[in-house]
Amino acid sequence: MQFYLATSFLFPTSFRARLFALCFVATHVPLLSYIVWGAATGRIAAGEVILLLLATVIGAGIALAGMGALLRPVDAAAEALRTLESGGKVAPLPVARGDVVGTLLSGVNRAAGASEARASALDLAAHEDVLTGVRNRRGFLADIAAADAGGRGAIVLIDLDHFKLVNDRLGHDAGDRVLRGFAERLSGELRRRDLLARWGGEEFAMLFWDVTEEEAVRVLERVARTLIGDPIERIEGRAVTFSAGVARYRQGALDAALGEADEALYLAKHGGRNRVVAAAQARQSQYAG
Ligand code: GH3
Ligand code: MG
Ligand code: MG
Repeated sequence: MQFYLATSFLFPTSFRARLFALCFVATHVPLLSYIVWGAATGRIAAGEVILLLLATVIGAGIALAGMGALLRPVDAAAEALRTLESGGKVAPLPVARGDVVGTLLSGVNRAAGASEARASALDLAAHEDVLTGVRNRRGFLADIAAADAGGRGAIVLIDLDHFKLVNDRLGHDAGDRVLRGFAERLSGELRRRDLLARWGGEEFAMLFWDVTEEEAVRVLERVARTLIGDPIERIEGRAVTFSAGVARYRQGALDAALGEADEALYLAKHGGRNRVVAAAQARQSQYAG
């Protein structure tokens, strides 16, 4: 390292040129000594000197090109590190083991792997609800944003009924258990692409792709029945239930769909809880009222 730093005055921006200069001097000491000796003693002909110099120029060209090619993996390693630093992804660099460049490249590959694993862990943490293991609101919105263009389906907002009582009567840990159990019940209703998130507190959101409001209502009503038949928890002998609002979702109209689902949820709560209301029904009752 000290030699590297001490020679940095020589071609400070080109390691290749510095390496070449060093090799050039090292290999030309005997050659120049021979030419000087030959000139001083008259034992070397001008033609010989010219030939030697010509061979030197050709050799130097080959050395320069070879060094440039040999140092290219080092450039690739530096480029990969720059990409990692700016948060980008890098493909694994090809490693020929056994030499110093191989060691450097495998080090860069390991650093790239570790940085990618860290980034995906952070990404997961930012999009996942720690208590229930389902997506959080940010993850839900990110998944919808990343979904195929032209997507449509049914969006559902769900709120556990009188959940405060669970905490008050059975304790916060029991409340947490209910939230986890409820998230599991909802997960059981998901098809491969459907989405489920803990929207916040004791509220959840779901998105069923290519499903009508009515079909989504039926799914939620099935969950509601299982909560009565096989309760996650009981308060004063009564199973913990939920209320839900369902609305049609069309890509590009998420806020409107969430607004409608929220209004439907409001009607479900005010209609007596433990029920699922579709936005179409909500619109009808508003029209009627
Ligand atoms: P409603 O039927 O009107 O929805 O009544 P509710 O009691 O469910 O609603 P409220 O908003 O009054 O209370 C929600 C409770 O959810 C209050 C809060 O302490 C509890 N809660 C929110 N997040 C958590 C959590 O992570 N764990 C636990 N155990 N409780 C939570
Ligand atoms: Mg609530
Ligand atoms: Mg509630």
